[in-house]
Amino acid sequence: MLDLIIIGAGPAGLTAAIYASRAGLSTAIIERGAPGGKMFVTHEIENYPGFENITGRELSQTMHKHALKFGAQYEYGDVKEIVDLGETKKVITNMKEYEAKRVIIATGTENKKLGAPGEEELQGAGISYCAVCDGNFFRDRDVAVVGGGNSALEEALYLADICKSVTIIHRRQEFRAEEYIVNKVKSRENINFILDSNVKSFNGEGKLESVTTVNKNTKEETTTEVAGAFVYVGLIPITSPFTDLGIVDERGNIKVDERLESNVKGIFVAGDVREKDLRQIATATNDGAICAQNIINDLK
Ligand code: FAD
Repeated sequence: MLDLIIIGAGPAGLTAAIYASRAGLSTAIIERGAPGGKMFVTHEIENYPGFENITGRELSQTMHKHALKFGAQYEYGDVKEIVDLGETKKVITNMKEYEAKRVIIATGTENKKLGAPGEEELQGAGISYCAVCDGNFFRDRDVAVVGGGNSALEEALYLADICKSVTIIHRRQEFRAEEYIVNKVKSRENINFILDSNVKSFNGEGKLESVTTVNKNTKEETTTEVAGAFVYVGLIPITSPFTDLGIVDERGNIKVDERLESNVKGIFVAGDVREKDLRQIATATNDGAICAQNIINDLK
């Protein structure tokens, strides 16, 4: 029997592991992908305190190493369900079952799909949701980025370094990103803009060849030839394994109290997976620390 199981090894889960194991709690982190979560697929990070400029992979490795330093165990597995047994919780993965006194859900988010015609058929054949993972396939080619937030613009900058040109397609005139990033994007010669426009379709036979957009005001259609398109139009919390607990609302969010505990006692929620205004590494690590400290106080 463990004191604590943390589901997800992004910055929220890894921070919770540092605090809990350092305080002497027997702690396991269960992760189905690479340690670091979304950081692992981020090219460059410039706003996490202490690191003026660090690659996402390097910060992932540093945080992962730190999380294991005080004895937390790292387990590979895809969590399918949590069963509330009252005083303890059973966590069921595709490989194994675990039991613990407390659980932290730190599963983060997945990328929202645009839902445009051609998107599903051409996913993996030109359409991607991860510039760091797939950008290199489009070296010296023309690509598009769909979206207008921080992630979209940051990844457009990354792609502009390796691709011939990047066309940012955004449904508004103004971006919803930090001014610093917007200015950087606007100053790049090989970044073009199609604004106030929605994607009508992704086109191509077997592989992406072009994207058709419609201007919201003029209704004018534009077809732009691109070999790749990277979609960053929003995030969906990963909560489907937890619906049987009755803690997930109709929009897929889990409500928590100020201790970050859900309405099932002993199950806490940290990081991007919970409803919040700012989804960043700093806010995820903050959540991880709060959850872990509340659990330490409960158990000691
Ligand atoms: P995540 O990092 O998403 O980690 C969740 C982990 O849970 C994942 O590893 C996932 O595999 C795992 N998981 C999910 N479901 C299960 C399951 N059922 N079983 C087991 N494991 C599971 N933030 C910044 O501060 N600065 C930046 O410059 C920045 N740039 C970004 C660029 C991009 C392209 C993106 C997408 C995000 C960026 N962010 C940035 C946001 C930041 O990465 C996230 O806010 C942060 O990683 C959230 O941390 P988290 O631990 O809550 O979730």
